[in-house]
Amino acid sequence: MFARENGSPVSAKVVEDVDWIYGQLIEQCDEFFRLSLSVPYEEDSVATYVKNAFETKLRRLPNEDARIRRMVLNQRLLGEALIAGASTMHDVSLSQVGSFEELPGVHHIIPGGFEKVVDILRKDIPEEKFLMNHVVSGIAYDREGVQVTCRNGYTCQVDHAVCTIPLGCLKDLHQRLFQPSLPIEKIEALNRIGYGVVNKVVLEFDERILPTGVTRLELIWDHERPMTHLVPQLWARKIPYFEAITDTVLIGWLCGEEAEMLEELDENEIGNTCETVLKAFLNRSCLPKRLRVFCSKWKKNSFSKGAYCYLPPGSSVDDINCLSEPLGPPDKPRVLFAGEATHKVYYSSSHGALLSGEREAERLIGLYEPIAQ
Ligand SMILES: Cc1cc2nc3c(=O)[nH]c(=O)nc-3n(C[C@H](O)[C@H](O)[C@H](O)COP(=O)(O)OP(=O)(O)OC[C@H]3O[C@@H](n4cnc5c(N)ncnc54)[C@H](O)[C@@H]3O)c2cc1C
Repeated sequence: MFARENGSPVSAKVVEDVDWIYGQLIEQCDEFFRLSLSVPYEEDSVATYVKNAFETKLRRLPNEDARIRRMVLNQRLLGEALIAGASTMHDVSLSQVGSFEELPGVHHIIPGGFEKVVDILRKDIPEEKFLMNHVVSGIAYDREGVQVTCRNGYTCQVDHAVCTIPLGCLKDLHQRLFQPSLPIEKIEALNRIGYGVVNKVVLEFDERILPTGVTRLELIWDHERPMTHLVPQLWARKIPYFEAITDTVLIGWLCGEEAEMLEELDENEIGNTCETVLKAFLNRSCLPKRLRVFCSKWKKNSFSKGAYCYLPPGSSVDDINCLSEPLGPPDKPRVLFAGEATHKVYYSSSHGALLSGEREAERLIGLYEPIAQ
């Protein structure tokens, strides 16, 4: 269901028109990477390319028809930014966006939460192999091995360490963490790769909230006329949709500075603003009773410091490759790197993180296989 801030619906025909063009433009964006087309730095932005190309398709339309299509396009770009992990698609490199690949198939919500996946992954590993609540504060390496130090005083000497500390933490900590410090090219690479903030707001009501048969309320904000809006809290305009995960539970996502700002607000205040949004877009004066509000705080979480990585203008997949390079002699890599920001195709995703771990495990197995034979 597509609606505007005054509760009026947006016709399916308008959305179809926009989606058809938008799909083509996004495919064109991907071509820049596949064909290695060079793009000047000032134009190296997905949003700039898509918006400019879209404008050429609107030329013959009456003003109001063009305006509503622009609003739908902006909502699509906002949804894209959430997935990309950037604040807006202006921050995502046009020349690199095609390096990311979607896995085929549909998205599923895992019953019992994502922890169930972790339970499956860890079931064959003996419990005593896990050291929980050990915050790594130092990784000292030389030709002979690695010494890992934890904040609680625990240390261990190992032949190899695989570092999966998230990029957001590495950006802040690398100088204090590594001894000797990281090579300059790795520092430059990790500084160039973007690491955004994405947060979710979960709202629970005592009764069904969206109209029967509707699972997603798409919010077509008017960013051109913000002074006439009904929702005064500007951060809320960053929410592109509310999704019903059950009849009574809605999830809204937002990214960028607004997602960061949300972390400072009281959850009750967030709930009230979301209700104002829902009332406006659903054109209702009252809603079912709100039971609970929950808001993630990925930026404040000192073990993530953000959400996931993206490639902004000026960065490239080479930076991801550089970040994934191990430290130490080529025949005896001592510190290896895994995690979503080290996978050159599936960066930003949990499957990318998993595959990067397998890649580094295979690297180590490859070292010892000839010795074992
Ligand atoms: C809102 C949101 C929605 C998402 N949706 C999807 C989705 O639908 N599909 C998808 O594929 N991906 C999604 N992701 C991305 C996915 O969660 C990440 O890509 C994935 O978790 C990355 O795994 P990782 O192992 O690289 O890092 P993490 O999962 O962040 O794991 C890093 C671990 O290192 C630990 N750590 C940090 N610092 C230290 C330290 N100093 N010492 C010891 N341990 C430390 C952390 O506690 C953490 O356990 C989403 C992410 C967010 C924020």
